[in-house]
Amino acid sequence: MENSKELSTWLDDLKLEHPLVIAGPCSAETEEQVLKIAHELKDSDVSYFRAGIWKPRTRPGNFEGVGALGLKWLQKVKAETGLKTATEVANRAHVELALEHDIDLLWIGARSTVSPFIVQEIADALEGTDKIVLIKNPVNPDLALWLGAVERLSSANIKNLGVIHRGFSTYEKSKYRNNPEWQLAIELQTRFPDLPLINDPSHITGRRDMVFDVCQTALDLNFDGLMIETHYDPDNAWSDAAQQITPKTLIQYTKDLKIRKESTTEADYTSELQNLRAQIDVADNQLLDTLGKRMKVAEAIGALKKEKNVAVLQSKRWNEILGKMVLEGEQHNLSEEFILKLFKAIHQESINHQKQILKS
Ligand code: PEP
Ligand code: MN
Repeated sequence: MENSKELSTWLDDLKLEHPLVIAGPCSAETEEQVLKIAHELKDSDVSYFRAGIWKPRTRPGNFEGVGALGLKWLQKVKAETGLKTATEVANRAHVELALEHDIDLLWIGARSTVSPFIVQEIADALEGTDKIVLIKNPVNPDLALWLGAVERLSSANIKNLGVIHRGFSTYEKSKYRNNPEWQLAIELQTRFPDLPLINDPSHITGRRDMVFDVCQTALDLNFDGLMIETHYDPDNAWSDAAQQITPKTLIQYTKDLKIRKESTTEADYTSELQNLRAQIDVADNQLLDTLGKRMKVAEAIGALKKEKNVAVLQSKRWNEILGKMVLEGEQHNLSEEFILKLFKAIHQESINHQKQILKS
């Protein structure tokens, strides 16, 4: 995709004074549930009402969505509230049904983006459509796969495209349900600044008490919008109960989130500075995360040394590490002096942790 400019105008055409907000339940459950939530979101910053009709569940036997019947409920939402509608499509049959029911925005889920066959099938089914199509990142942190999906849709002459950042799955559990790996979204934004970039804090966090912070980080990083799962009774939702927030909370969030406007040159500067600072914050958090992980490994080594009655300080090994890091540091434009200071501090902390373990 050489130029994403022509892909971007749908968002500008909405002429919003705030980031785009897509909200609604993870899954459409009943007609009453869908309509009740939609009415509560009617007079808010929400432009698109989302509801999953076909649910990709990791394991069989869970609620897999109400199916095509739910598309009629979404049509009712539009007729009664004026909200535009959005749902996930995962194959040609879904696309055909969603188009028949005049759904305004279709998104491709994270489990579909990983499969070029599925993405191609969806692209072929949507060929030439003027509906908005958003592509969630694949479950694994692979920028090329994500971009490949954008290219497949773009080649099928689908103009109104955008991407949704919903985080990446990891084997090692972290505080997130899906690790944000912000640098991937930032890289995508740098390569295609005109491709609308929406954040999905619900699937990143997996828990409602972290949703606000992720929204704010996304806005600080200049994301164009948010997709937030919303349910009037989150705890009893049929899917993703822990991460949904109420319409009332969502409306409060849209008031409390700090949104930066980019109009004058002065504002451009502030905006750019905040964007860069947000990137620094992301990098700092990753540093702490990595250091924390390193200490855990050092502790495991401490336990092993205790078992075998070996000395904490192993100078030969340590000198090897230092030599290697000084060389690697050069490649990252980091001075020898800095590397030596940094690793001395890290080493001291490791020794302290290991000593604690030997004493225990
Ligand atoms: C969803 O949006 O409800 C969903 C299933 O998301 P994802 O594809 O990001 O897991
Ligand atoms: Mn969900």
